[in-house]
Formats: sequence, C-alpha cells, structure tokens
Amino acid sequence: MKILIVEDEYNLADAIGATLKYNNYLVDIASDGLKGYEEALTGVYDLIVLDVMLPNKNGFEILKDLRNENIHSKIIMLTAKSEIEDKMTGFNNGADDYLTKPFHIDELLARINKELRRKDYLHKDFIIFNDVKLNLKNMKIKKSLY
Ligand code: CA
Repeated sequence: MKILIVEDEYNLADAIGATLKYNNYLVDIASDGLKGYEEALTGVYDLIVLDVMLPNKNGFEILKDLRNENIHSKIIMLTAKSEIEDKMTGFNNGADDYLTKPFHIDELLARINKELRRKDYLHKDFIIFNDVKLNLKNMKIKKSLY
C-alpha cells in the first residue's frame, strides 16, 4: 500500500511518514503543493494525506484537479481548526475524510487503516485462509474437501 503525504510542515510530515512506515506502508512526501499534485497524478497512490495550506497550489485545488483527472486515490484532508467551512468544501470536492489540526497521529493512522480496508473489501469476494474460504457476499464459510 502506497501513501503520499503532501504537507509543508517538515516535522509533521516526518512524524506521519515514520508512523506509516512503521506500519508497513510505502511512503512518499511532498512539501510543495504543485510537486505533490504532480506526484499524485501518477495514480500509483492508494491514499493521499493532503494538507490545505500549501505553497504554490493549495489542498482544495489539488483535490479538485485530481478528481477531474480521474485519480481515485483515497484522500484525507488536514485542516486547521479555523477552517470549519473549508472542511465542507473538502467533502464537496470529493475528499474521503478530514482531520482537524492539531491531531494525534494514531487517529490519522486509524482513519487511513479504515479507508484502505474498506477499499480492500470492495475489490474482494473471498478471503481464503489455509483451507477455509469466507464468501464476503453472503458471509458463508466453506472448508475445502481436498
Ligand atoms: Ca501547511
């Protein structure tokens, strides 16, 4: 699972990056809005952590342009406490979730895990473990006979 962090506060970006790497995610960091947008356009990211206030291109512009370019990575916006109205703008433009700064990194990790797990389930019909198969459509469990 690959995650892009677009955040111009180095300490915060580093702390998020370290936590995600520790939890087995592949992480890239962009500290500039335009650079972050260009990296996000590659479409290789499962999820993007996107700050609102960024140099050169703000988070809402990035979000809107990515959705217009049919980039369907999950996007979690980071907003300052004073930007309550902006949060609504974020949802209208297709953000999956948002967090208000300051936040605890564990909270961000929990939201990321939730978003990516949800995506996993949407793309799978079965979970197979050893000789047991769980059908996610009807939630029936089968044990194979061979
Ligand atoms: Ca910022």
